[in-house]
Amino acid sequence: MENCIFCKILANQLPSSNVYKDDLCTAFLDIRPVNAGHLLVIPNQHSSFLSGLDPDTGAQMFRVAQRLGAALRTGAVPCDGVNLFLADGEAAGQEVFHVHLHVFPRFAGDSFRLHLGAKYGEPPSKADLDALAEKLRAAL
Ligand code: 5GP
Ligand code: ZN
Repeated sequence: MENCIFCKILANQLPSSNVYKDDLCTAFLDIRPVNAGHLLVIPNQHSSFLSGLDPDTGAQMFRVAQRLGAALRTGAVPCDGVNLFLADGEAAGQEVFHVHLHVFPRFAGDSFRLHLGAKYGEPPSKADLDALAEKLRAAL
């Protein structure tokens, strides 16, 4: 994809600090890390959104993220926890439109926070949850 910075990284047209590569996906360090050791796992084939991502590639991205999380925890960046995060769509916070799974180390007391909206904490009724679950089962 022309003008996609992650495709340019894959094509070695932009620099990156690479950590992992296989037939399906690649992982490298984020240039603006939440914490040192923040990684991005991306598919080798361009897909802007999850809807276009080959499911086997998605599964491999998760496997790789699991390995990277273990590598962080077991010594590369000794940490107290690991977050996986994927923003699909602008409204979800996606800024680079080539699917990417964030893997980043967390430390007790670090300043990273997800900002929760004003409505957070108002639990829906069980009937509302059940109705939504039924809708979702039908949509699968
Ligand atoms: P998003 O907000 O789309 O979930 O995350 C995009 C991520 O890509 C951000 O964390 C940002 O720091 C990272 N990023 C943007 N441009 C580059 C780049 O040129 N190289 C690398 N390594 N990371 C980038
Ligand atoms: Zn791309």
